[in-house]
Amino acid sequence: MNSTIAFPSPNYNFRYLNRRAVLEFIRFTPGGISRAELARQLDLTRSTVSAIVADLMQSGLVREAESGPATGGRRPILLELNPQHGYVVGVDMGATHMHTVVADFLAHVIQEEEIPFDVLDGPALCLAQADLQVRRLLQKAGIAIEQVLAAGVGVPGPVLAEAGVVSAPPIMPGWDNYPIRDHLQRLWGCPVSLNNDAEMGALGEWAFGAGRIRRHMAYIKVGSGVGAGLILDGRIYRGAAGLAGEIGHLTIQENGPRCSCGNHGCLEALAGGAAIARNAIQVVQSGKRTQLANIRPVESISARHVGEAARLGDLAAQEIVANAGEYLGIAIAGVINLSNPSMVVVGGGVAQMGDLLLEPLRRVVRERCLRPAVQSVSITAAVLGRRSSSMGAVVQAIETALYAPTEGNSIMKGGLPDQNGTNGLNEEELVQFQGDAAASQTPKQRSMVAGV
Ligand SMILES: [Zn+2]
Repeated sequence: MNSTIAFPSPNYNFRYLNRRAVLEFIRFTPGGISRAELARQLDLTRSTVSAIVADLMQSGLVREAESGPATGGRRPILLELNPQHGYVVGVDMGATHMHTVVADFLAHVIQEEEIPFDVLDGPALCLAQADLQVRRLLQKAGIAIEQVLAAGVGVPGPVLAEAGVVSAPPIMPGWDNYPIRDHLQRLWGCPVSLNNDAEMGALGEWAFGAGRIRRHMAYIKVGSGVGAGLILDGRIYRGAAGLAGEIGHLTIQENGPRCSCGNHGCLEALAGGAAIARNAIQVVQSGKRTQLANIRPVESISARHVGEAARLGDLAAQEIVANAGEYLGIAIAGVINLSNPSMVVVGGGVAQMGDLLLEPLRRVVRERCLRPAVQSVSITAAVLGRRSSSMGAVVQAIETALYAPTEGNSIMKGGLPDQNGTNGLNEEELVQFQGDAAASQTPKQRSMVAGV
């Protein structure tokens, strides 16, 4: 398999590629886009755009939205995906929670809920729980499961997306190679896309949140564990075996505490939610003055308790949070020095601690990064809060509904459009894929039609 090519099917032609490019611009331009702007962005004639749009409207995928602002003459008619085309489901399974979203085709949330969950219960029980939760929310929304066009599911481990399984996930013992995607597809009767939760978080923040349509961004998910989703050069970077972004297992302290992966001193063992809770329990047991000592039994102290106490001014809790922020800063400085993103988004449950965590993190990044890299990056909390991953799963589900089963999920395989209207494929890949025919198009068109 050649993972650099966005389109696995040999049956592509320019008509198809133009249609797809138009569709992606309509999807990802905030507030919608006019026919004239589509023609300008894509270097296509107005009549070509009009014909494609007419076709998309006829098939019920696209509709005319409210008018945009007038620019001198009449107000342009903006196009958007048709929210009534169908429904999708996004499920974010964390280590200790499950967030489920039912959305329309415009990714507007109709029902959502987060419930406690334990990934250690294993696939049979956890997937039954996911099934129950999806059916419950659909029922609340008055939607039949047959109306669901596709589902996106995020899990806290390395995913082999093509196979729909996780591979040797450190915090998901018992899940190795379990046919998660196929199992859910059978239960729900629709295509399911399985992906890593941090990658889904990156996609959610890229589409609707803090990293909106950024070409180079890193999303760091700090929950019980720590993971990262990387969007490099406009596409999700997954590595050879889906293991890219496993920032939680960077060694930060050579002889530090033991990690779930078996090594010592990993970032996750120092700064993940489970580590924060463990540190707090130790602080209480050491007899230090802290309001965390009021929580009984002491073993039930969670990262959330630590965050709440820190916000209320508890010094011991603040110190635990700041330490976690510093460790995260060391690892993120490494990510920045390595990949030079323009945006680092910190999400997941622990990130809800806000500046108590982010200030020490930013300080360490300033100290440890090359200055030009620091000057060109902003580090911010996730705009979608605890929903980054489930919204990313919704984006992925819409993608799957639009292009499956003929193509698979190309966002994850291929490029994402960026602010300037270019895309993930480079010139060489385009030529590789399009062959000689590409020479007859303008460079801008070549780059647009292929990569989204
Ligand atoms: Zn580890």
